[in-house]
Amino acid sequence: MVDPGRDPAHEHPPLVVVGAGPVGSLLALLLARRGHRVALYERQHDLRRGFRENGRSINIALSERGLHALRGLGLTASILQGAMPMRGRMVHPESGPRFPLLYGRSAADVTFSLRRTYLNLSLLAAAEATGRVSLHFQHTLQRYDFASELAVFRDEATGDEVHVEAPIIFGADGSASALRASIVEVTGGDVRHERLATAYKELTIPAVDGAHVFERDSLHIWPRQSFLLIAMPNSDGSFTATLCVDLESRPGHPSFEDLSGEAALTAFFERHFPDVVPHVPDLAARLLQVPTGRLANTRVSPWCHERALLIGDSAHALVPFLGQGLNAGFEDCTALDRILDSEAGGPHPNWREIFRTFSRRRKPDTDALAEMSVENHREMRERVTDPRFVLEKDVEARLSARYPGEYVSRYQLITFTRVPYRVAQHAGRIQEAILSEVCAGVACPDDVDYGRARALVKERLRPMLAEYGLLQ
Ligand SMILES: Cc1cc2nc3c(=O)[nH]c(=O)nc-3n(C[C@H](O)[C@H](O)[C@H](O)COP(=O)(O)OP(=O)(O)OC[C@H]3O[C@@H](n4cnc5c(N)ncnc54)[C@H](O)[C@@H]3O)c2cc1C
Repeated sequence: MVDPGRDPAHEHPPLVVVGAGPVGSLLALLLARRGHRVALYERQHDLRRGFRENGRSINIALSERGLHALRGLGLTASILQGAMPMRGRMVHPESGPRFPLLYGRSAADVTFSLRRTYLNLSLLAAAEATGRVSLHFQHTLQRYDFASELAVFRDEATGDEVHVEAPIIFGADGSASALRASIVEVTGGDVRHERLATAYKELTIPAVDGAHVFERDSLHIWPRQSFLLIAMPNSDGSFTATLCVDLESRPGHPSFEDLSGEAALTAFFERHFPDVVPHVPDLAARLLQVPTGRLANTRVSPWCHERALLIGDSAHALVPFLGQGLNAGFEDCTALDRILDSEAGGPHPNWREIFRTFSRRRKPDTDALAEMSVENHREMRERVTDPRFVLEKDVEARLSARYPGEYVSRYQLITFTRVPYRVAQHAGRIQEAILSEVCAGVACPDDVDYGRARALVKERLRPMLAEYGLLQ
């Protein structure tokens, strides 16, 4: 039995973080900057020695909550070097020309498309550079024993079992978390996977002579009711596209089950995404080679027990349709950091209490985000071509532009501010009611009574936004 994290020169074992994904790496960095020693354990080998993208979630839309976490560490400029700013959605309808739907209130409201691996590597390097983080690759957590406070890992290189002293342990080990299984087992807690019928495959749309084949400052979507294609720009001129289709057959809807051969896939793309086909050689063959991923919201209770805490996807994996999973995981880290700021325990914080406070404050927000992410899935694949929805979005954009200090849409609250997610959800419900009222019986945005709309905004929305300092 070897404990690679234990340093005999120190009285206390280091804090243990399981999972060196983006959230685990950021957490290790934040804890190290507070003066803690951290042992970071990761199942895979060291990404820095070369990595293979396995066709899974390789692009991230980084927005305000994620950016805020990086800003605090002075890492924004270096990380955004390889990122592509996106100003809005470019909708590719089934027929007719593509059209833009802008995201924000101003040109400054952009999200950034970047490769998750690149972000991960930058954070890992910054964590190691603190000199307080030891990295242990190819160590897979098997279980955590609360009685002995030992974390049991398998060393993937040797097959040995490794017992690590871990009186304080963080599970940043993603959506199939092993620490979560140990917490749930000992507490009799609950893990619910709310699986969508939709699954996904990723595809690269290559550059042509180094240039992007579609507008490079947009997130492109091809909404097709029960299925959807999304593409995000990369700095090398390519796009990373994600095809979201039902996994299993049901009458009248395409599914990956039906699209299991090259001929069927080619015909499907030629019919529904004809503007993509000329740009991707061997499209069907490529798609058949990449894995099919499932999409689910995972709700977990509790997030902590004793001095063990779940953070990031291990606590709240989300369907990706609001582009917030990683942003929310980074916000978890800043929320925990803030609680540590207010903690009087100095080098020996009361972790049990801190973990409880964190879970109590944060879980209602990620629960709200999970609900909104599923709603946005519906919006992206079905509603963006519904004339009623387009009218309401148009009126919403005009309200945002006319009264920028008074009207901030739900999407803007989620993406470009840091108001708690549950507040964004509440504001969204108020906005839906206002838009539906002022658009009733109206055929085009010019016919809307903006005076009445403004009065409703002032009465119902303003007090809430004022509370969060969002009004100019
Ligand atoms: C298709 C898709 C698109 C997405 N797009 C966006 C987006 O645009 N914006 C956004 O904010 N989010 C997006 N997300 C979500 C985002 O990818 C996740 O929220 C984010 O990666 C979570 O980070 P994490 O570090 O918590 O978990 P992970 O990234 O899953 O990292 C967990 C780490 O733990 C390691 N690990 C797992 N088990 C063990 C174990 N037992 N022992 C040791 N190590 C272990 C893993 O190898 C991994 O390195 C998307 C997700 C998908 C699927």
